[in-house]
Amino acid sequence: MSGRVFRRASVANPPVAVRAHGSTIVDADGREYLDAAGGAVVVGIGHGRREVAQAAADQLATLAYAHGSAFTTEALERYAQRLGPRLPLDDPAIYPVSGGSEAIETALKLVRATQLARGQQDRDVVIARWGSYHGNSLGALDLSGRRPLRAPYESWLGRFRHVSAAYPYRADTPGSHAMGDAHALAGELEAAIREAGEGRVAAFFGEPIVGATLGAVEPPEGYWPAIADVCRRHGVLLVADEVMTGFGRTGTWFAMDRFRVQPDLLVAAKGATSGYWPFGFVAASAEVWETVTTGGGFVHGFTYSHQPAAAAVALEVLRILEEEQLVEASATKGERLLELLRARLGDHPTVGDIRGRGLLAGVELVLDRETKAPFPRSRRLVDAVVRIARERGLLLYSGTGNANGIDGDVIVLGPPFVVTDEELTRIADGLRDALDAALRAEGVSPERAASRPA
Ligand code: PLP
Repeated sequence: MSGRVFRRASVANPPVAVRAHGSTIVDADGREYLDAAGGAVVVGIGHGRREVAQAAADQLATLAYAHGSAFTTEALERYAQRLGPRLPLDDPAIYPVSGGSEAIETALKLVRATQLARGQQDRDVVIARWGSYHGNSLGALDLSGRRPLRAPYESWLGRFRHVSAAYPYRADTPGSHAMGDAHALAGELEAAIREAGEGRVAAFFGEPIVGATLGAVEPPEGYWPAIADVCRRHGVLLVADEVMTGFGRTGTWFAMDRFRVQPDLLVAAKGATSGYWPFGFVAASAEVWETVTTGGGFVHGFTYSHQPAAAAVALEVLRILEEEQLVEASATKGERLLELLRARLGDHPTVGDIRGRGLLAGVELVLDRETKAPFPRSRRLVDAVVRIARERGLLLYSGTGNANGIDGDVIVLGPPFVVTDEELTRIADGLRDALDAALRAEGVSPERAASRPA
């Protein structure tokens, strides 16, 4: 018997990726793929940056590992200092870990530790939202409001509560758990806090702009300030999950910058190391940090938290983002991408909505543009679009269940910030062609797709 690898569910026999540069991945047969989603919306600075590989190699050769309970490292201290002013928090302190889910688990425990240090022993209720994704480890999955991912493990879940998604496009869809009015959404959160009992809720978690699950969905005007106000008035910590939106993805350093809201804690990963090293962190406000460090302390840690090579890579990625003004590039190229998508797909009978901020964009597919009826999940339309695009050398990312928890298809785009104009054009053209081909493969002409019975 030979050794083998568990595959990610979507690809049974994946091609062998051997190298990458810019926005392109090359496989063992020499085929090139345009990485229109940066993997799972991870790669900001682009593939193949030798400086990052060098930073990792230098750190590994000098000091690969020193346990976080005994040492700190120059790489980590330097990173925290350079990152601090970029975060939408005053005088933040970071807790570095190995990825988004670990960072969310850390944030969950940190909110509890903070409330305990405040003398608020009864605050153990955590609220998140339907239609959100916070990770696949059990605590993070329980926070997530993505039903198909939860379903097999539901009997192990159920500790956390969920309120509606801030998703104006789906506000009227039956079963969507979505609302579109900022005032009503803030009121719903306040009602949930009251229902849990005064002095019971520890924290509220949310993605500032919902990434993969709903496909680049922005909340209605005034939502985040209203939510922050409810949290402050009730002693509830506000946690911004910026795992996908952080480090320039939505055209500002962090998505919360756009909403002018300072959370108490911010979670980041993905773009922080741009795929070059497994990494994530929780950033805490000075108040949270002081409360915890002078209060009961924080009983936590992983073997690979505070890892110096991760910090060296993160520092180099941060330098590249700053010096090459890639956050600004994300904002301007994102506008160009939206223009192209609207030009190519705006009149398509199965495209219900095209949206985005910076280089995070979503194209929502519908059976009927008038009623916004989703394609039934059984049609697996988005899966076919992604597969056909991949066969043609274009890598897309997708979300499902956005309409009512089960049905609904959305294509998610998140190319590296170094993407060229010519590549943006190829992304928009390739997406339209793959969508039409997927519809034809079902035996319908794209023009008639909307009228085909489910
Ligand atoms: N939070 C958000 C908003 C995410 O998009 C993701 C991953 O897609 C996670 C958390 C989990 O991160 P990871 O896959 O690194 O564990």
